[in-house]
Amino acid sequence: MPWVNQEMCNGCGICMDECPVGVITLNEMDKAQIDEESCIRCGKCHDVCPEEAVRHDGEKIPEQVEENLEKTRRLLEYYDTSAERQAFIERMIRYFNKERKVTEFTIEKLKALKAGIAGSAASSANS
Ligand code: SF4
Ligand code: SF4
Repeated sequence: MPWVNQEMCNGCGICMDECPVGVITLNEMDKAQIDEESCIRCGKCHDVCPEEAVRHDGEKIPEQVEENLEKTRRLLEYYDTSAERQAFIERMIRYFNKERKVTEFTIEKLKALKAGIAGSAASSANS
């Protein structure tokens, strides 16, 4: 999912003009912002931005890891004993293991979907 680095954006609006589904707007600071729910992930905003302000999702990994840790620390406050806290952390680990499996299986299915599309395109070209 692309996102806009607010410090790098100059508010030129080029990305807004290029977005095929019109989901980029300028916020109150005249900086571009993307409606993540409606973005179709075409990547055009990234390609046209003259300031390289539209950034890749991967850059948010450290931030998202920290958010997960912060949430865990916050929820830990609901548990009194060391045993309860350890059990809670174990449940969080199981939760993220499940998320990892969902991601891995999804990637496998997406690869199969891509291969299927490539196969259909090759058959069409040969017929
Ligand atoms: S093209 Fe880049 S600099 Fe211009 S508004 Fe969009 S994100 Fe900001
Ligand atoms: S990736 Fe495509 S759909 Fe999403 S905000 Fe950028 S230009 Fe719009």
